[in-house]
Amino acid sequence: MKFDMVLTTCPFCGTGCNFYLKVLGGEITDVVPCKTHPVSEGELCVLGRNAYKFIQNKNRLTKPLIRKGDDFIEVSWSEWQMASLESKKTLVRMLLQYCRVQNAPMKKTTL
Ligand code: SF4
Repeated sequence: MKFDMVLTTCPFCGTGCNFYLKVLGGEITDVVPCKTHPVSEGELCVLGRNAYKFIQNKNRLTKPLIRKGDDFIEVSWSEWQMASLESKKTLVRMLLQYCRVQNAPMKKTTL
């Protein structure tokens, strides 16, 4: 059996440690620290060492969901993107309204 070694960056904090994902048949089987990376220098914290395990967690979300009342419904990625954009616009409008009420300085916007 031949493992593939995929160099990547740890997703858990801003330190940016690098490691190799040891992949066999499309499944990640281990994390191997990158000895030549200038930050991690062959070391990883416990989060980095276990960085691949969340991928195999049976409770991991694999499809986009949108809240409808108390429930979540499965949607396509494009539907999720549109809903996400609308949520962000609403958030910015609320923030601008708050700034107006507080007489805080703000830049012009076209929302
Ligand atoms: S291995 Fe630990 S210190 Fe390094 S980036 Fe990941 S979480 Fe941060």
